[in-house]
Amino acid sequence: MIKHSHLFYIALSLLYIPVLANAQVVRSIEFPVNGPNNFFSDFGAPRGGGTRKHLGNDIIAAKMTPVVSAVNGTVNYVISPEAAWGYEISIIDAEGYQYLYFHLNNDTPSTDDGKGGEANAYAPGLDRGQSVTKGQLLGWVGDSGNAENTVSHLHFEIHDPARQAIDPYSSLITSTGDYRSSNAKLGITPDIRLQLEKVVDGRPNDIFKTILEQGAGGEEVRQLQIVLKVLGLIEKENITGYFGPITREAVIAFQKRQMIDPVGTVGPVTREALNRGIASGVLLEYKPFYSEREQRAILIQKLLAQIKVLQDRLRAIQGIL
Ligand SMILES: [Zn+2]
Repeated sequence: MIKHSHLFYIALSLLYIPVLANAQVVRSIEFPVNGPNNFFSDFGAPRGGGTRKHLGNDIIAAKMTPVVSAVNGTVNYVISPEAAWGYEISIIDAEGYQYLYFHLNNDTPSTDDGKGGEANAYAPGLDRGQSVTKGQLLGWVGDSGNAENTVSHLHFEIHDPARQAIDPYSSLITSTGDYRSSNAKLGITPDIRLQLEKVVDGRPNDIFKTILEQGAGGEEVRQLQIVLKVLGLIEKENITGYFGPITREAVIAFQKRQMIDPVGTVGPVTREALNRGIASGVLLEYKPFYSEREQRAILIQKLLAQIKVLQDRLRAIQGIL
């Protein structure tokens, strides 16, 4: 017999079929990079060696160029310490649109040492749940995480209230602020375009690859602990790279929240939940915004939207046949 929780996971696994919709949505925003920059319409471009689509626009700017909030909103999450995909901030506005800022600076100014820490990534005092205003300083452009070996840039995403990434390009070129459309017209050079396409960029979808259990250690355990900390399940001092009893308890709490058998080991189902949840960003969202019931409703809504797209595609194919 298939358990309810299994059905949920089958449903969940169907949610991530890449569908790039709503290209025409325009949000009223302030340009998120406050300094000279270049960008072009690169939503949907190949990333991760063609394994996935680019879900944002890359705004290329010098390291330490100020990054400001595009909207009035609330801090949804702040990635801390630096995750595999770098320093990232999520802001959510009153209508439920989410604005994501990736690869904030991780270097000591005028170096590429990767040792800048959060003081050189984020504006002081930013924390989840906090209100921000349009134009407020959030942090600085950089190359953290999987942008380390490419040009420094802000990878900027907008997600609609159904948690679907929309093309931010129209919003960017119609935005307010001193550094927007004149630069957009310049575009970027072919070699920078190539550099960007080579890197993983944005959020990778395969951070967790092995079975993690008590007694394990290493970078994958550390990444697990970073995610557990973002979710409020462990404290910063527990991020040790060693899978001890505290990590196990946090994994059990995570599994209960995700309706996975709470065994305290990261096996294939938990790994899938982590990888897919991180890739979509939904997993990391600030809990007080959505109850578990609401989060499931969001996922189901997304599933139904995907089913509709598939039905439309099938109908189109039948039309051809
Ligand atoms: Zn990008």
